[in-house]
Amino acid sequence: MVGDHLALDLLNTEMRVGNEAVDLWRSGEDVHAWLERCGLVASVSIAAAEKQTLLVQARELRTLARQLIEQWKNGQMGDVRPLNKFLDGYTSAPQVTADDTGKLVLTRVAKADTVVSALGPVAEAIAQLLTEGELDLVKTCAHPECILWFYDRTKSHKRRWCSMASCGNRYKAAQFRKKVGTN
Ligand SMILES: [Zn+2]
Repeated sequence: MVGDHLALDLLNTEMRVGNEAVDLWRSGEDVHAWLERCGLVASVSIAAAEKQTLLVQARELRTLARQLIEQWKNGQMGDVRPLNKFLDGYTSAPQVTADDTGKLVLTRVAKADTVVSALGPVAEAIAQLLTEGELDLVKTCAHPECILWFYDRTKSHKRRWCSMASCGNRYKAAQFRKKVGTN
């Protein structure tokens, strides 16, 4: 999860390998696994029959997020109505429960249908980014062939790469080859 923000990790489920666009979501299973990795589906179980709907809606939300975030980055006001439609369906209620150690914790329990409930927190993260995020800290990887996004939470705000281990080193090696003329 290089995005360091749920809304940007959402965009990063589409990436580029070489010149090829790669969609990490090829099935509802993939979306479900991604949500699980983000810690979002613990309380929502999605039936097999709903997985296709999950894939379609998750992709729709991702396209919307990309549009809105890119427009926002360019200082434009996007059309937020479709985002509000996602948010509108997402209802939850606060609930007090005991955790494993018997300590009381406040959680929110989703009240909508399962697909809407599963994607609700993602829609909320997009809304949070657009309203409270710091524009300058929302960046794309500096590698010209990489399309990944991240929220720069470093102290110096000088993060340039999705990952130093891959893009950072890849870029530096290419620059070095250029310099010594072995390219
Ligand atoms: Zn990168």
